[in-house]
Amino acid sequence: MSPTTVAEHRKRVAELVGLMPVLQLPLDECLGLVLAADVVAPLSLPPFDNSAMDGYAVRAAELAGEGPVKLPVADDIPAGRTEISPLEPGTVQRIMTGAPVPPGADAVIQVELTDGGTETVTINGKVRPGANIRTAGDDVQKGDPVLTAGTVLRPSTVGLASALGLPELPVRRRPRVLVLSTGSELVEPGRPLQPGQIYESNGTMLAAAVRDAGGTAVQLKFVPDDVEEFHRALTPYLGSVDVIVTSGGVSAGAYEVVKDALAGHDVKFTKVAMQPGGPQGSGRYEGVPVLTLPGNPVSAQVSFEVFVRPALLASMGHTQVERPTARATVTSPLTSPAGKTQFRRGLYDPSSGQVVTPVGGPGSHLLSALALSNCLIEVPEDVTEVAAGAEVVVRHLQ
Ligand code: AMP
Ligand code: MG
Repeated sequence: MSPTTVAEHRKRVAELVGLMPVLQLPLDECLGLVLAADVVAPLSLPPFDNSAMDGYAVRAAELAGEGPVKLPVADDIPAGRTEISPLEPGTVQRIMTGAPVPPGADAVIQVELTDGGTETVTINGKVRPGANIRTAGDDVQKGDPVLTAGTVLRPSTVGLASALGLPELPVRRRPRVLVLSTGSELVEPGRPLQPGQIYESNGTMLAAAVRDAGGTAVQLKFVPDDVEEFHRALTPYLGSVDVIVTSGGVSAGAYEVVKDALAGHDVKFTKVAMQPGGPQGSGRYEGVPVLTLPGNPVSAQVSFEVFVRPALLASMGHTQVERPTARATVTSPLTSPAGKTQFRRGLYDPSSGQVVTPVGGPGSHLLSALALSNCLIEVPEDVTEVAAGAEVVVRHLQ
């Protein structure tokens, strides 16, 4: 059987995960989500002509003559005032930034050019008509298509929606991802470790990676290599999660709990032509998409990067699902197995002429090397040796 290519498996995973449903979410839950429909402005911004300064609403022509002008202050308009009387000729109204400009006024003179009076005011300057007035619709016209479907919502875009009076936006919701680690050797950090046991790391790492990709992670405590326990652990979550991501128990040894437990289900186990992260499984468990990642921590995390992260991003409606890449010169030689895409861990330094230094060897247990790296160095399938100084493609991890 010829191995599955990275591209084939990526496609299969993305299809399995599919698209999340669209719902209206309150603005404070929308950050980082993708707008699912165009937004047409329900009002103009600013909604009314308002003052850009603290000062006095005036008729510009009344200040046009020589010398200071002394005028009665007919009214006081703080921001938020809703009833505004027209500006009578020969008077001014004191006005604050953001307050509505009274009908009849055609300019605002800033308080700094006056004596600041409240009964009468002496004005020592001139303004042109329109000065210091923010006119209605300056920023957005009612009916404008202000935000388009596909926009990734940022602080400024949720701010704009709020300014337009929209309490919610239509977005694709976050996928809920159940993360389950398997292995009888695993112990929760904080508990004592017996000889032969190790502290669990994949669950914590993959749940963090799910959140980093924008999903909601439900991290299940790991299960031992026991098929019954595997089923028992998943059952309560089947109605509430969109994707199940497991780690461990899928390689060629005995006690491969994930393989054994999913044997009768619609799950395909395959070897993907990559290193690390060859053994992969994907399919449905009781109807829920399930992705089974290998157990070695670097394999699990690289698999997540290559397969799961893009699928989760796409499920939320992101069109940009790839990490940014760059070309860099590698500082030391690399070897890579024939016929496999290799993802080595590296430290990319853009400041010193786009150089990447491999961190650690190819071993998929070298978690600290992954933790200390900031990119993956991608060695193509047909390349077995990369000389020092050669150009490689790096995939930024942050
Ligand atoms: P497996 O694929 O289950 O045979 O696991 C391969 C290797 O990864 C073994 O050395 C496991 O102990 C280790 N491993 C599996 N799952 C985890 C995990 N959740 N945390 C840390 N190491 C793990
Ligand atoms: Mg295991």
